[in-house]
Amino acid sequence: MPDTNESNKTTSKGISRRNFFKGAGLLAATAAMAQLPLTGNNTVQAATANSINDLYEISKDFKRFDQKNEMFCRMEWDPKFMPPPKPLINTSMPGYSVLDQAAGFAGWTGTNSLGTQFGWRSGDEGFYSWASLGNTKPPQEPWQASPEEAAHVIKLYAQDLGIAATGITTVDIRFFYSHYFHRGTKKYGEIKISDTATKAELLPDGTRVIPSSMKYVIVMLASMPYEMMATAPYGVSHGGTGFGYSIMALYAATMAEFIRGLGYNAIPLGGDTALCVPQAIAAGLGEAGRNGMLISKVGARVRIFRVMTDLPLATDKPINLGVREFCKSCEKCARECPAQAIPYGDMTTEGPNISNHHGIKKWYVNAEKCRLFWNENGGITCIRCIATCPYNKPDGYWTHALGNKIAPILGGTLVTIDDMMGYGKIVETKDYWKRPLRN
Ligand code: SF4
Ligand code: SF4
Repeated sequence: MPDTNESNKTTSKGISRRNFFKGAGLLAATAAMAQLPLTGNNTVQAATANSINDLYEISKDFKRFDQKNEMFCRMEWDPKFMPPPKPLINTSMPGYSVLDQAAGFAGWTGTNSLGTQFGWRSGDEGFYSWASLGNTKPPQEPWQASPEEAAHVIKLYAQDLGIAATGITTVDIRFFYSHYFHRGTKKYGEIKISDTATKAELLPDGTRVIPSSMKYVIVMLASMPYEMMATAPYGVSHGGTGFGYSIMALYAATMAEFIRGLGYNAIPLGGDTALCVPQAIAAGLGEAGRNGMLISKVGARVRIFRVMTDLPLATDKPINLGVREFCKSCEKCARECPAQAIPYGDMTTEGPNISNHHGIKKWYVNAEKCRLFWNENGGITCIRCIATCPYNKPDGYWTHALGNKIAPILGGTLVTIDDMMGYGKIVETKDYWKRPLRN
């Protein structure tokens, strides 16, 4: 396993509070020079585009992705990734102590113990049930509102539940899996959007059908805990990732039940049925970074989940935050990836293996290398590429909004400042557990 601690010793020098504010002053001065509007909160205003096609080059022969080739599914049929990894519990190895591992695996409780273990990847199970969970009853008459009012209500409800950001788009069939693959039962079948179907259902031949009337996709983001993620790639960070998945299952189910209670159909989606990142981009939530993840208007440390519905909603437009422009000179995730799975250099239209969705101009992460590192790491979900990204800052941190505006202008200089401030440095778990309580 590459020594990521060692790489950090050379790149993360730490910085005094005084120098930190000097750095912050430099950022503010740069923003002022560039005459960039500051929102004063944790979100940004960005240029919009009419469609994802205006921001991304997508080839005409772009094919729908078969979920069977997705890396988690390949663990079930591809000998290269079998058998599953065994947890590393070794009290003499920093980051893999009983304490670290307990926190790491406990974080998955919500998603693993509420019937969503496979639901978040395979769909229609547990909190991701396509049928009502029975907490709301359909009214005699569906609730009526204009698409704009309805979108506002949905976003307000999401915001008050603690969902980090919400955007709305419509079905773009290109980003739906051609086939689903159930990791538990190994069931495999087509996914169809149908003009004739009246309800979402599983047909006897294994085809999953979604009525085309459920054309609205509410895309939402759940934040993962900053401090836990800062221990990546070690045990505690696995709990941060798992907690992101756990909380998003609850959020998805709650939003679906809310919409059902308004008298409309709702299908909650985790990582199943359709690709998350393109839908989040189409819904105006952010851009795809070099690390293959969504870099959103609220930062890099997010998990994506969706609810499809036939409740008419006003939709959002894709945004250009300048992330990809910044990624060109940043390359911090490529440098810090312990598996060297993230490319340096230019975007391409082809990825290295069958787990990539070829045909979009972007940076393709080598998921095989990534997964083999996770196996070596005792099944821990690394996510150092999120933890070290300069767009990952603690919640409410004011320079986040500032950083979004000046990052594309400062480029590599901002990475140097980010390193100097100690961001992305691995927090050793022995230190993690000794931090004082906030209150
Ligand atoms: S999660 Fe994968 S791609 Fe990201 S830093 Fe870890 S090994 Fe690299
Ligand atoms: S670390 Fe840098 S290059 Fe990687 S995704 Fe974040 S901003 Fe882009």
